[in-house]
Amino acid sequence: VPRILRIALDTPLRQLFDYRLPPGVDAARLTPGMRVRVPFGRRRMVGVLIETADRSSLPSQKLKAALEVLDEASVIDEGLLAFVKWAADYYRHPFGEVLAAALPAGIRTGKTQIAPAPLHPAPPETNAAEAGPEPTAAQAMALEEIVGGLGRYGCYLLHGVTGSGKTEVYLRAIQQVLARGQQALVLVPEIGLTPQVLARFQARFDRPLAVMHSALGDRARLRAWQQARSGEAAIVIGTRSAVFAPLARPGLIVVDEEHDPSYKQQEGFRYSARDLAVVRARQQDVPVVLGSATPSLETLENARARRYQRLVLPERPGEARHPTLRLVDMRRHAVQDGLATPTLTSIEGHLRDGGQVLVYLNRRGYAPTLFCPGCGWTAPCNHCDARLTVHLRSRALRCHHCGFRQALPFGCPTCSHEVKPVGQGTERVEETLASRFPEAPLVRIDRDTVRRRGDMQAVLERVTSGEARILLGTQMLTKGHDFPDVTLVVVVNADQGLFSVDFRASERLAQTIVQVAGRAGRASRPGEVLIQSEFPEHPLLQSLLTAGYDGFAATALAERQAAHWPPFARLALLRADAREAQAALDFLQAAADAAAPGRSVRLLGPVPAAMARRAGYHRAQLLLESGSRGALHGFLDEWLPAIEVLPSARGVRWSLDVDPADLY
Ligand SMILES: [Zn+2]
Ligand SMILES: [Zn+2]
Repeated sequence: VPRILRIALDTPLRQLFDYRLPPGVDAARLTPGMRVRVPFGRRRMVGVLIETADRSSLPSQKLKAALEVLDEASVIDEGLLAFVKWAADYYRHPFGEVLAAALPAGIRTGKTQIAPAPLHPAPPETNAAEAGPEPTAAQAMALEEIVGGLGRYGCYLLHGVTGSGKTEVYLRAIQQVLARGQQALVLVPEIGLTPQVLARFQARFDRPLAVMHSALGDRARLRAWQQARSGEAAIVIGTRSAVFAPLARPGLIVVDEEHDPSYKQQEGFRYSARDLAVVRARQQDVPVVLGSATPSLETLENARARRYQRLVLPERPGEARHPTLRLVDMRRHAVQDGLATPTLTSIEGHLRDGGQVLVYLNRRGYAPTLFCPGCGWTAPCNHCDARLTVHLRSRALRCHHCGFRQALPFGCPTCSHEVKPVGQGTERVEETLASRFPEAPLVRIDRDTVRRRGDMQAVLERVTSGEARILLGTQMLTKGHDFPDVTLVVVVNADQGLFSVDFRASERLAQTIVQVAGRAGRASRPGEVLIQSEFPEHPLLQSLLTAGYDGFAATALAERQAAHWPPFARLALLRADAREAQAALDFLQAAADAAAPGRSVRLLGPVPAAMARRAGYHRAQLLLESGSRGALHGFLDEWLPAIEVLPSARGVRWSLDVDPADLY
């Protein structure tokens, strides 16, 4: 008879905790996934039962009894529990913390009682609330593959240019899933879950929809979780963490804009929701669809190797036209506050012809630098290796990395000379455009103008109604929104991503340019895209111009393979930060020394991070690289326990990132 409970607790310790059965509880009625209240140090905690055992390795006098079992049945089913376990194991993160991240607060804390998950087949979906347009031939072919694959695992890359109708394929596939009495899980990027997207799903299906995103309050989150778990919600739509949504009858998983960086969680439990969605689909034996106009290089390589099936949607004949891309050489033309003469002329022409103009600049504020011409001083952040950004309207200098803020000085603090802002942010370009085109109403979309969810809706209405003629903004406006009347897109500065130390920077830049270009010419009118650069001969820009995203991707994949970078290698990054610069480096050096020598995993570093100081902490990193995922994980198995007991670990904050998205 088992008398020991193995419990996962929300602590940073990489272990399960053994407890004796609470008095009067019958071990036979316990199942993994039930919540158990236990004493932990001086506190009481609620954990999740993972397994029962006959004996513990702890001496019996050290073993405490659990206080109570909270549930009659598991709150988290076996399939989901196995998935969470897989994720904790793969990312080498403490199981209890991963489990806590996967559960809503009310469940985690034990406050909410929960009914056993009902096993009723749901009534099949019969009629859609709204029919939707007839699928094109390409949509019908893609749909046939996906629907033909329902009921078993398969991973599909739905590769369709902007405007080719990927969403229509999702909607029709989901319709088939609902007809089978199953649920669909739809993941969207952080920024993509707009009222427009929800409205489209609601209009199509006459069934409850559970929505999950980071801005939800505890109560709303709990309710969505329960609707997903009970099967009441036919469709669960959410951002990153919705990949852990409980599903009574999973039938299909969709990851929209699969290349989007927001699928990667960058703090705490670091995971890729896109990658986990594929794992979950495999475990639950359902198909998963990864959709994008600009697929990540990882996904393209998986498709090339036939691990994923690629379904292509070409642009719709007669409906959307590929915009013409043109480079504007910033060295050859007069430039007024970041906009070259040919750019200004084009804007003028498109406005005159009744078109809308979209101006993209991924830098908010007025100017990235405050400079003194008298002595060469620039305003630094005292907490980061970074310059302060000038925000003219709020008369402030702000650090975009740590949030530090101070009043805008009148003169140079060292020589009292008059200081001036250098470079362009959206606030400054807004000023330039407003003075140059005073007749054209302008909306600016960035984190300074759009703070709450409702703000975005209001701004978008001004655009779709045609009242606003110029849209200016950061990447907030490049995603998911349809602007059918935009005929000209201007990329103010393409050079930020060209020479970055990050190996993913060029991929991100290409994706951004193609995505932002996709906003132009979506109706009957062809669009025009101007890309301003001081390096128009750069191979990345040239390959995009002549061969499109596919051409760029082929070149970039060849480069990655030659350099032995992902997807042709596996990476893990050990990061450390500390108040003292040397402490972080010392810890990483000790970690490197603790590694058993072997040829299958290479250690690169330790080195200071690209931004060596941030928010008062000195940051450094040690990169691990291997040709094999198995070899890397085998190495981590031995290495992590050795790192955890290093004396130098005490003075630093450290974290491990498996498959890091950014190397800084
Ligand atoms: Zn000065
Ligand atoms: Zn700072």
